[in-house]
Amino acid sequence: MDNQEVPSGMENEYKIGIDDNEDQLMSTTNDIASSKRKRAFTNKGTLTKRGRRTSLVWEHFIFTPLSVGGFEVHCKYCITHSFIYDSGMGTSNAKRHYLSCPPYLKYMNDNPNGLAGNDFDQKTYLKLFAQSIIAHGYPFKMAEHPRTRKLHDYLNRNVKTVCRNTITKCCMSEYNDLKKNLFDTLGASTSRICLTSDLWQACTINSYLVLTAHYIDSSWKLRSKILNFQHFVSSHTGNEIYEFVQALIREWGIEKKVFTITVDNATNMDLFATRLECDLHACSPLPMNGKYFHIRCCAHILNLIVQDGLSVINGCIVKVREGVKYITLTEGRKVKFKQCVVATVWL
Ligand SMILES: [Zn+2]
Repeated sequence: MDNQEVPSGMENEYKIGIDDNEDQLMSTTNDIASSKRKRAFTNKGTLTKRGRRTSLVWEHFIFTPLSVGGFEVHCKYCITHSFIYDSGMGTSNAKRHYLSCPPYLKYMNDNPNGLAGNDFDQKTYLKLFAQSIIAHGYPFKMAEHPRTRKLHDYLNRNVKTVCRNTITKCCMSEYNDLKKNLFDTLGASTSRICLTSDLWQACTINSYLVLTAHYIDSSWKLRSKILNFQHFVSSHTGNEIYEFVQALIREWGIEKKVFTITVDNATNMDLFATRLECDLHACSPLPMNGKYFHIRCCAHILNLIVQDGLSVINGCIVKVREGVKYITLTEGRKVKFKQCVVATVWL
């Protein structure tokens, strides 16, 4: 879902690209940019050693900083082509490469001019918008934000901006599509599935249970997918958790494929794991007769050990916390504290 239309290697570099573009935008829209900053630009469209890259050519490359200074630069499309870049470098070599780079030419062939002109499709726009809301956790109301609408209008005049109810429906539709895809994938998978589950109380007082599936796909890659992230309304007893998780496993149709379940080391989980093991073993024999079915989460055990160790110095931790609270309560105290630290350093 994330990388459907982005060639391999591009997705991570969008983050770097965004920084550069923001600088570019600032430099072109900010009328009161300092003269110092303006001088940093050269006629070639690149920046001097004080500045940053502005030529659009560099959007086709990935920059990795080197410890000795400068960057190692890779082509985003073929990845294999690379060279060393420093701030005084021109754009000729880079242009020559990507204009003859086969993966780049194929990408441009598959996506001619991006969304320019009549290529715009409202359904695709809504789908991509919904995907961005789901992936980044934006509020549904974002669809009604005037500046967001202005941006979308600017990008393409054919766009019909929508209200939050419409984008909510699009997000639910996208969720259902993804859920169905995952259901089909798990159904077709020949791999055994290892589950992890956790149950905790959020600061909102509500309890949540999450169930995650880990499996090897047909290309031998380890995949981890959250199957459910749900409000858990019952009490946290082993029987209640068993009823809840067992129903989820059946809903996903993976009761004959489970290999292990990893849960925290709480006592209620022993009963839960024992009941689930009996249930699944009766449905389809577990590998090694279920000997490795119940896995106790190492991170949880380690956390318990560390918490136990820290309890020895609990008094000191409380004093430090109270001290920090006292000092940071007013600006005057912070200034005095800083003076004390400086005076101590120079003693
Ligand atoms: Zn290339």
